[in-house]
Amino acid sequence: MAHPQRRPVAPRVQPGELADKLPASPPVQGAPPETILQDFESNILPHTVGWNHPGFMAYFAAGGSPEGALAEALMAALNNVGLLWKASPAAAELEQTTLAWLAQWLGLPPEWFGMFHTTASEASLHAVIAAREARAARAPLDLNKLTIYTSEHAHSSIEKTMMALGHGREACRKIATDDAFRMRPDALEEAIVRDVAAGLEPVAVCATIGTTSAASVDPVDAIADVATRHRLWLHVDAAYAGACGMLAECAEHFRGVERADSYLMNPHKWMWAPMGVTAFYTARPEMLQRALALTPEYLRSQQDPRAVNLMEYAIPLGRPFRGLKLWYLMRSFGREGYESTLREHLRWAQWLADQVDADPGFERMAPTLFSLVCLRARPADVVEEDLDGLNERLMEAVNASGEFFLSHTRLNGKLTIRVAIGNLRTRETDVQRLWELIQQRLADATGA
Ligand code: PLP
Repeated sequence: MAHPQRRPVAPRVQPGELADKLPASPPVQGAPPETILQDFESNILPHTVGWNHPGFMAYFAAGGSPEGALAEALMAALNNVGLLWKASPAAAELEQTTLAWLAQWLGLPPEWFGMFHTTASEASLHAVIAAREARAARAPLDLNKLTIYTSEHAHSSIEKTMMALGHGREACRKIATDDAFRMRPDALEEAIVRDVAAGLEPVAVCATIGTTSAASVDPVDAIADVATRHRLWLHVDAAYAGACGMLAECAEHFRGVERADSYLMNPHKWMWAPMGVTAFYTARPEMLQRALALTPEYLRSQQDPRAVNLMEYAIPLGRPFRGLKLWYLMRSFGREGYESTLREHLRWAQWLADQVDADPGFERMAPTLFSLVCLRARPADVVEEDLDGLNERLMEAVNASGEFFLSHTRLNGKLTIRVAIGNLRTRETDVQRLWELIQQRLADATGA
């Protein structure tokens, strides 16, 4: 972690290269740690991607932190499995306490029930399970007619939830967005009315704060009005941008979240927790309990309102001691530490956005509300049909440098390069260097 730049951010390897290097059969005899670690260093490590590298700006930054690694080691050493309160009082109580602390930082309602999931995808699955239960609690529900609503820019996990629950992809209605990639409440209203008229059963709407492609923000307050009118469960996915709930200057983006029935954000993204920590909140935990509580004799334990058994609110039984990670990180950074780093990332993203806007050879593809900058090269002498190819080559050339790792998306049908700032090791000079490199590589590609 101290020297991530020793290796290129993304390895130059071919699919199957590592698998071919490994023995075809598993070891019969155990090996000493020195041998294993040496193998790790020489064989495994060169095939890893530097998610902790300052130049990692692909997807959304989910780089870890030394603090997180230490907390993870403590967690593994104890290996408490928090299935019931009794199985690990510390795991149960730290989970609830750290999530209550986090709710204070993020300005979420203090009465919300918090629990961890491993990923945002899992948390959204549980949100839809609860939504379905809430609807079924009111009146009989024909599961074949159930629909949910989200924007065309929502993360694929929402649609996948409907596949996993057996409702099918089509039951996830994709609502049109405006010119800033925000869900249109009028289009949402129309879709719900149309579906109700067709005899379908709308149960939930999922708004996103910080969409994956463009980091756009759905108008949660206006969506909540529609949800209230039609008695739909409102789920809010703030997987990436949720950390900015700490910042007073970002409050506008989070307007209306207190009206949600469920909410998620990922400490394993922009709070530098090691992978596997999603904070999930719900105002109606009893719906999860109704849907998922099942206690066989071997798991029966004392009834005490303060002994919360989190297995009753989720599919998995065994729960990792994730509260320890968040507790360690929150104590280590403090709110001030988080706020100052988040603000730096926002400032660098704004700087890059300004460079793009000032350069006639480039175009910004989405508003820069957080730390994601969406851009593409658009040199005057290249025709529109060739721009996708040019930008793809440009991104590949930047990635081939080994200094940076960028990813792409498509916005308004156009190939868009995403620069996702958010790594703890990234410095302002890295962002400046990236811009210089992008310009150089574009000049190489166009012979300018
Ligand atoms: N929701 C949003 C908005 C995301 O951007 C992502 C991933 O980037 C996810 C959900 C899925 O996150 P996870 O990997 O925790 O399931």
